[in-house]
Amino acid sequence: MGKLNVVLLRYLSRDDFRVLTAVEMGMKNHEIVPASLIASIASLKHGGCNKVLRELVKHKLIAYDRSKTVQGYRLIYGGYDYLALKTLSSRDVITSVGNQLGVGKESDIYIVANEEEKQLALKLHRLGRTSFRNLKNKRDYHKHRHKMSWLYLSRLAAMKEFAYMKALYDSGFPVPKPYDYNRHAVVMELVNGYPLCQVRHIEDPAALYNELMDLIVKLANHGLIHGDFNEFNLMLDDEDHATMIDFPQMVSTSHVNAEWYFDRDVKCIRDFFLKRFNYESELYPTFRDVHKECSLDVEIEVSGYTKEMQKDDELLQPEGPEDIQEEDNDETVSTTKIGDCAQETKDDPSVSEATDGSSLEDSETKQDHGGGGPSLDMAEFNKVLDELEGKTVEKNDNKTPEISIAGDVENNRHGIEKLSTEEGSDEYEDCEDECPELVGLSGTNQEFRPFRDEDSLQHINQHRTRTTSVTSMGTVGSCSTIPPELVKQKVKRQLTKQQKSALRRRLQKGEVNVFTKQRRENMFNIKCSVDAAGFWG
Ligand code: ADP
Ligand code: MG
Repeated sequence: MGKLNVVLLRYLSRDDFRVLTAVEMGMKNHEIVPASLIASIASLKHGGCNKVLRELVKHKLIAYDRSKTVQGYRLIYGGYDYLALKTLSSRDVITSVGNQLGVGKESDIYIVANEEEKQLALKLHRLGRTSFRNLKNKRDYHKHRHKMSWLYLSRLAAMKEFAYMKALYDSGFPVPKPYDYNRHAVVMELVNGYPLCQVRHIEDPAALYNELMDLIVKLANHGLIHGDFNEFNLMLDDEDHATMIDFPQMVSTSHVNAEWYFDRDVKCIRDFFLKRFNYESELYPTFRDVHKECSLDVEIEVSGYTKEMQKDDELLQPEGPEDIQEEDNDETVSTTKIGDCAQETKDDPSVSEATDGSSLEDSETKQDHGGGGPSLDMAEFNKVLDELEGKTVEKNDNKTPEISIAGDVENNRHGIEKLSTEEGSDEYEDCEDECPELVGLSGTNQEFRPFRDEDSLQHINQHRTRTTSVTSMGTVGSCSTIPPELVKQKVKRQLTKQQKSALRRRLQKGEVNVFTKQRRENMFNIKCSVDAAGFWG
């Protein structure tokens, strides 16, 4: 899943989006979400829903999957990207998406822009793409879970990254300014510089070396260790000053392996300076040099992030001394080393293609919850839907809130494509919801053109009254834009028709009974006659 197909977003209808959201909701308590459950959550007819599901699979937004006991669908990174983008664009955090900027070991970075045409960086976490993160032992720790969900871990990583970036930024550390996050996506300031790994020559290596060592110590004085402090996670500007990025693996200085992590960060920088700039200094900090001034680690812990997800934080922490030892004996782990540091691949995006989300064991977060029915999810589903559609629905009530791509050449310096929605008529705004429990659906229902004017309504009614099937009644009943009188009349007509046909059936049944009775009597008579004949015989 290297590519972010923004063009595709333009062609996704509201139903596509409803079904996608329903799959996401279903995955809260299902590893594979059965099609019937998706249809119920999305409140769509099974036939229509299946058609949409097939389309979503075709565009690699969801994947079809089956186990011994169940078959259905699961969300993959393609669909997750779309949902996150939709939310961020509905919040006006981003309005256009540009070129891919970088490929991290577990993320894809894109240039995006907001309404003021300010360019920002969008980081889409893609945990599970490589086997860098040694989750093997940590998974055992989470024995109660059947499998770890990569989507869940990516969401956790984004949440943690945002929380740490915000705390560090507010404390004056050289980190990108955080803007917003949603699901597995983080929007942050676009750093104007090069990753240190790409820099071959600097004027004053000693000055940069000191700056970086000071940064490691300052972080620790604030109660934090980066955990992956190396040339891939440091951006250098034109004045050779560093900006630190990539925070999901950060740990507290009170972590049991804190000293080991601290020493490893220091060693990474020393090794790199020796190798790249042929610079070596006898001076380097040790964990004993740390004098804790404040506890950002504790401050972050009381923020939304860890309260909710602290128990799973261990899964994001960098590999510790035990993991390294185990890896030595473990041939399957593909981590490359530079000294003691885990090297990040700057591989071509083809790496990610080979490990598409669809092939991963994502899905499943709360297995122990069993199978919650659609009613369980409806409130949340509508909330997510409202959040995603939000302003888009209010502002643009045209046929579909499609994301359009403007061919604005000026904006296209970085291949930026607009995520704007078309302005449309507000003819739906007058329509009121007749069924309060269907509030979340009103937008979709109003979309059905035939229901919008009297003529077509009559046409529909004429058409519908000809059919006596219960399903078509249900369909009309659930359309919130039909006046209640009409619905009542229609139901009454349908009922009378049904009652009549039931009566006919009963009569027919009675006739059959009479016929059977007569036949039995005849048989009896014949039998008696034959017996009598024998007797007389
Ligand atoms: P990962 O967690 O996958 O290692 P990183 O956050 O390290 O991802 O980002 C990967 C690469 O993307 C970085 O090496 C850098 O080149 C680029 N990058 C990341 N964030 C930014 C940013 N805010 N501005 C500019 N480039 C960035
Ligand atoms: Mg990185």
